[in-house]
Amino acid sequence: MTNYGLVIDQERCIGCQACAVSCKQENNVPMGQFWNRVLTKGGDKMDTPSGGYPEDGGSGSLDMQYQPTACQHCENAPCVKVCPVNATYTRDDGIVEIDYDKCIGCRYCMAACPYNARVFNWDEPEHMPEEGTGDVAARPQGVVEKCTFCSHRVDEGLDPACVVNCPADARIFGDLDDEGSTVSKYINEYETDQLLEDRGTNPKTHYISGEMSPGRPQTSDKMESELDDVSPWSDGAEDVPAEAGESDSSGSGGSHHSIEGDAAPHVPAVGSGGDD
Ligand code: SF4
Ligand code: SF4
Repeated sequence: MTNYGLVIDQERCIGCQACAVSCKQENNVPMGQFWNRVLTKGGDKMDTPSGGYPEDGGSGSLDMQYQPTACQHCENAPCVKVCPVNATYTRDDGIVEIDYDKCIGCRYCMAACPYNARVFNWDEPEHMPEEGTGDVAARPQGVVEKCTFCSHRVDEGLDPACVVNCPADARIFGDLDDEGSTVSKYINEYETDQLLEDRGTNPKTHYISGEMSPGRPQTSDKMESELDDVSPWSDGAEDVPAEAGESDSSGSGGSHHSIEGDAAPHVPAVGSGGDD
């Protein structure tokens, strides 16, 4: 059976908040609310490392870590257990969702959630622009809402918006019950953590936060050989056009990104201005 989960590679996360912003846009999250937050360790904000200037007595350290946090889609979800009207429920594919027509706004689920993953619409939600954003209907005043793993996208065979929009490739989504899925390979091959494991919630979001995560681009031979079919930057010779002019402009070289010569991997242009 399908059992969706997420790996967040904190070694790759750059704290850019693209996941948080794309989540708001995709899911029409009201002003002042976040379903996905990027926590920082080492400073209060993404650009304020805790080290401080040495002349002010600080260590000068620029070290910071980021921990994107949203609903963990717990297998043993306390929010589901405490909901008195069964408005919060777990889908067959493991995604924890809310039926907003049933929610009575008691907020028991907010008290039960150890991850502070839920928000409550105390007031009539405001959106910018007023007509809202994304493909998900706005939720009314008086209900609790939270991350859905973008279930509307998952149902279409698409990854959640936060995964697609992460420029650092730090988020990996897939079926935890499929041994061949990328998320399963990561969890099986490398050390991952779940938040507040001692609570027994068995979150389906797993974090890589230790040493530089092997298996990602710019990594060791070990990882590339182990997860070659996962790495977007294989060092296989077939990825590199043999000669200038011989490259296949159809891009039919398989699923790996091409690297031209010894140049850096190609990064698609963003918002190109076109012809003058
Ligand atoms: S989009 Fe990716 S890199 Fe940016 S904060 Fe989120 S997880 Fe980190
Ligand atoms: S993180 Fe909180 S809201 Fe999400 S499933 Fe777990 S207990 Fe429920």
